[in-house]
Amino acid sequence: MKKRGAGNGESRKRRLTELHRYLSTLRNFMLLAHWELSVREGVDDDDSVLEVEVGDTLRHFTVSVGASFWTLTAQDQREYCVHELIHVHLEALEHALIDAVKAHLPDAAYQVALASHRRANEFATDALARACAEKFPLPSSALR
Ligand SMILES: [Zn+2]
Repeated sequence: MKKRGAGNGESRKRRLTELHRYLSTLRNFMLLAHWELSVREGVDDDDSVLEVEVGDTLRHFTVSVGASFWTLTAQDQREYCVHELIHVHLEALEHALIDAVKAHLPDAAYQVALASHRRANEFATDALARACAEKFPLPSSALR
């Protein structure tokens, strides 16, 4: 049986606040200072560590946190955070693809093109995050 006391909730809230502070710092380093940022607990895919959702029109993104994030090393937490912020920059490419081809392809072809784009985007984002994460500050121990 899990214990669910007020202290547990307070500690989770404190960690989310600290993650918001850390992502805000990285956001400024990564030239996303003009974007609004939200952080929330819970991911859509149970295997996800972090997920990012970028607003369609407003300059706003939400980072969702999976339970496994809190168990990572500081280096891995930083790399995951940088990865999600790179996705914010690259989101415009997906919108450009959708705008360019969705209306001109049969749905099956469009779905293949979108899936292919997303796979390539993920590989590129991973490589960029690995290449540049160490240039940014590590999160504090409050995130673990
Ligand atoms: Zn990703």
